[in-house]
Amino acid sequence: MKSPDANKCRDLWAVALVAAAMTSWPLHAQSSGVEQTSKSGETSKIAPIGVMPTAFMKIPPSARGPEIDRKKGYRIESLGAGLYMVTDNAYQSMFMVYDRGVVVVDAPPSYAGKIKEAVREVTDKPITHLIYSHSHADHIGGAGSFGPVPVIIAHSETKRLLVRDADPQRPIPTMTFDDRYRLRLGSQVLELSYPGNGHEPGNIMIYAPAQKVLMFVDIVFPGWMPFRRFGVAQDIPGYFEQVRELDHHPFEKLVGGHVSRIGTHEDVKLQIAFDDDIRAAASAALHSQTFPTELNGVEPVNSWAFVSDYTARVAGQCVAAMTPKWKDKLAAFDTFIWDQCYAMEQSLRVD
Ligand SMILES: [Zn+2]
Repeated sequence: MKSPDANKCRDLWAVALVAAAMTSWPLHAQSSGVEQTSKSGETSKIAPIGVMPTAFMKIPPSARGPEIDRKKGYRIESLGAGLYMVTDNAYQSMFMVYDRGVVVVDAPPSYAGKIKEAVREVTDKPITHLIYSHSHADHIGGAGSFGPVPVIIAHSETKRLLVRDADPQRPIPTMTFDDRYRLRLGSQVLELSYPGNGHEPGNIMIYAPAQKVLMFVDIVFPGWMPFRRFGVAQDIPGYFEQVRELDHHPFEKLVGGHVSRIGTHEDVKLQIAFDDDIRAAASAALHSQTFPTELNGVEPVNSWAFVSDYTARVAGQCVAAMTPKWKDKLAAFDTFIWDQCYAMEQSLRVD
């Protein structure tokens, strides 16, 4: 528990940082939260990285999908013509039924043990194919629980990463491709394509043209702020470009791999607007904050401390600039806005 003095100190810093953001008065932003007051008068402090806030912002209705049956631990949503989403409302995967079997896309360990059960609610046909959206264990780390699956398809980069990781829960793909692969099984089609690096090398788009459903994981989080650092994007300019490209894609339903509901083009447009705003906010902060030439108590040789002071002020100004417009538009804005601002200023400085 924090001492009353510590709380009082944090409150003072919160107020001071708002003043700093408005006046460009340099401050050590990382040691404070950012306080914003909404039109309704409700006040929330946005705790910096590593500080647990006293309360998180409420999750708005736009970020909530249908409830799951807690006893089952998952729900199935029909996406039309034999295609289904399975979700525990934190992760999302898909399966497609064709005349002789079932294709599963991704196996998040949080509910992979129940995917066979979910498939059996729809069909008795066997799982013949497994597709990996990308190599990350939080999306495919339950694949080992399926037992042997005759065909496992992934991008060649995903295979390279999985060979390196040597994780028995993520069996090595039996078939890979580089640019495009069209999987046709009976009357069902899945078009796999690789748009290049963004989230991580090998992260593919999985499109069901008849159903107009696109699965593209860890890019847009419908209704929500992306997970920290733009969904842990390895290449932020590439990630921004992919979000922009998504707006031109003919999908009607987007399976994003996370959160509780299907995404739409409106979600993509909102993410593009967020990306544009945060790039502008971080860019303005990089220009208006000055790099320190000396700091009290810091050895002149400690250049990393100088960078840390500068980037903390840049991120603080970015958070303050983003908060009024965005805090009610994307769920969990307060949880990761500091991460996003730090990621943005870093990318703008080096990419
Ligand atoms: Zn991932």
